[in-house]
Parts: sequence; structure tokens; C-alpha cells
Amino acid sequence: MALLEVSALSVSYGRVAALTDVSLKVEEGEVVTVLGANGAGKSTLLKAILGAVPAKAGGITFADADLTRAAPHRRMAQGLVLVPEGRRILISLTVEENLLLGAHMRRDGQAVQREMDAIYARFPNLAERRHMLASCLSGGEQQMLAIGRAMMAKPRLMMLDEPSLGLSPLFVSRLFDLIGELNAGGLSVLLVEQNTGRALKAAHSATVLELGKVSMAGNPAVLAADPRLQDAYLGGGAHP
Ligand code: ATP
Repeated sequence: MALLEVSALSVSYGRVAALTDVSLKVEEGEVVTVLGANGAGKSTLLKAILGAVPAKAGGITFADADLTRAAPHRRMAQGLVLVPEGRRILISLTVEENLLLGAHMRRDGQAVQREMDAIYARFPNLAERRHMLASCLSGGEQQMLAIGRAMMAKPRLMMLDEPSLGLSPLFVSRLFDLIGELNAGGLSVLLVEQNTGRALKAAHSATVLELGKVSMAGNPAVLAADPRLQDAYLGGGAHP
């Protein structure tokens, strides 16, 4: 069974249908990307998987448990974590306090400390600034902190909502390297992106949403060569 399985999921905000009949799977160890224009329903999909918005129809199973109606904290305890759009780190707390927030559900103090040491080893900029306010960090460093905070929860599936948004090209490269490294370490990833080209290169499988419905899905290399995707998201020009 897949690690995450979303089946025929529909979500509405009042009378506005945000998702209709959306299905996708993340197998253990995979990076799966969800692409689509503004308002296509990508953030709603991540929120529904986390339980922040209710499913109107359909189901969500994660690690063999039906979580369709489970409260968000139960889903997080199962190993689901979201790095939200816009990072949402707490700029009036220090770097270290932000990291510790990610571990608030854990009771294994020594392992939490080891995790923090590993994050500081991975991100020397955060280690140097551990006692400084997060507001002192650059946008790219704040994104690394948001991902570090998510890692502190020891997730089985990390969901990232447009992590490259607003980052300099250097940080975008570092971000995609990091996603690859985390995945090589065994972490499964569900990646919402507008940086279609990079996301397709990083992913094992891809789903495109249009107006809340799945319009294309499958192998990223096949999708990258598809004229419809080329026109809509990759700048076109690759076909007559
Ligand atoms: P973006 O890239 O702009 O974040 P998205 O693909 O993540 O877009 P969603 O934010 O999931 O799209 O929005 C999907 C649809 O649901 C849009 O039509 C949006 O206007 C609507 N929507 C999102 N949040 C709400 C809300 N809280 N109340 C009402 N409608 C909403």
C-alpha cells in the first residue's frame, strides 16, 4: 500500500468547489510534485491532507490508517508535516526556539537534541545564528529554518507548499539539492511548486491540477515533454 493515498477527494469552501475528485499516491521514498496555476487548489490539497480543511467526499489514508476524519494533531503524530507557503516561522523567536517548536509533540529529548545537532550540521548559517531572532535571517535562510523545523518533527512525509517562492536562484538550487538529500535519506516528499521545470526534475511522479481537478498525472519526464504542459507552465516553444 502507498504511504499516502488520496482517493476521489473533494473539498469546498462554502459553495466554492476547491477540489473535485482528486486522487494521488505517494509511495514510500518518493518525491511527488503537484503543479498548477494560482488558484488550482494545490494549497487546499495539502491543507486537506493535514486536516486543516475538511474533506467533503473521498478519503485520505496514510501509513495504513484512514485519516479522512482525523484531527490534524493525530495526522502529525503519524508523521505528516507541512512546510506552509510563506514559511510561517516566528520572527520574534530565536532560530533555536523555532526549531524546538517543530519537536513539540516529541517526548524523546535526547533524540530531539541529536536531530537539532544534525540540522545545525546541515545548515551552518542557522547554527551560527541559533540564539538570534529569526527576523535576522534572509528569506532563503528562513526557508531552511522552516524546513529544519519540519524535520524536527521526524516526519515520514514532508509536504512543502511552494518552497522556492521568492528565493534567489542560489537558494532555489540549494533548496532542490536539500530536497534530494532528504529524499536520499529516506524521507518521502509531496512538493507543491510553481517552478515546474525544477519540480519535474526532482520528482518521481507528478500531478497537474487545473481548477481543482487532476488534468494530467504520471511520469515527470513524460509530462515535461507534453505540449500541453510546455504551453501552460514551461514557457512553450519546444514544439512547432
Ligand atoms: P496559490 O498558488 O495561489 O496558493 P493554489 O493552487 O494553492 O493557489 P488554493 O489556495 O488551494 O489554490 O485555492 C483553490 C481555490 O479555493 C481558489 O479558487 C481559491 O480562491 C479558493 N479558496 C482558497 N482558500 C479559500 C478560503 N479560505 N475561502 C474561500 N475560498 C478559498
